Amino acid sequence: MMADGSVRAVLFDMEGTLVSFEWRLEEGEAELRRGYEALAFSPETFATESYSGMWNLALRTPDAPADEAALHLALDPVYDRYDLDALSRWQLRDGASETLEALGRAGLHVGLVSNIGRRALSAGIEDLGIRPWFDLVLSRDDVRFMKPDGDGLRRALDILEVEPAEALFVGDSRTDVAAARDAGVAVAIIAGGESTREALAAAPPDHYLASLSEITGLLGV
Ligand SMILES: [Mg+2]
Repeated sequence: MMADGSVRAVLFDMEGTLVSFEWRLEEGEAELRRGYEALAFSPETFATESYSGMWNLALRTPDAPADEAALHLALDPVYDRYDLDALSRWQLRDGASETLEALGRAGLHVGLVSNIGRRALSAGIEDLGIRPWFDLVLSRDDVRFMKPDGDGLRRALDILEVEPAEALFVGDSRTDVAAARDAGVAVAIIAGGESTREALAAAPPDHYLASLSEITGLLGV
């Protein structure tokens, strides 16, 4: 169904999808939970939330103890520090450069929609040599809500003037599947990233691929 030329834009997640998954998740989420608690958000409310779920929930909390500006001031440095730590270990996943190049050469829009902040994301795509293949790069700093919200994907489609039905999102996690569903975009998950196939069973993606190299075949380009 995707190989019929209906797809005009392919949007990618960064960490775990185009590069190895390196974020120190457990340590980072524990530190963030303490950060939200220090702003007087209830730790119980955040107990089961991911790093991005905490951010989205804080913004959506009625009569929140901290407004958006205060949240950025207190927590951006924490998110950025873990991003930059991950950046120091990122390696391109197999087929990343070749796939991005092939999609661009086939005339498709290629975009990046990441929960990583602008500083680490920009440095990462420059250092790894994949910056030239992107028409559009949206970091955490370019959206209000992080994935699993569809905010970033909707923003990307708006900018590229592409309908949700004309796009494919490529990611590696449950968070990516949820963001794609929220934005009404088809989603492919690449094995070997953040979420195992078992973890995706409750909300499976449209396509589960062994490697990035399978995307061109899926799209018939
Ligand atoms: Mg990811």
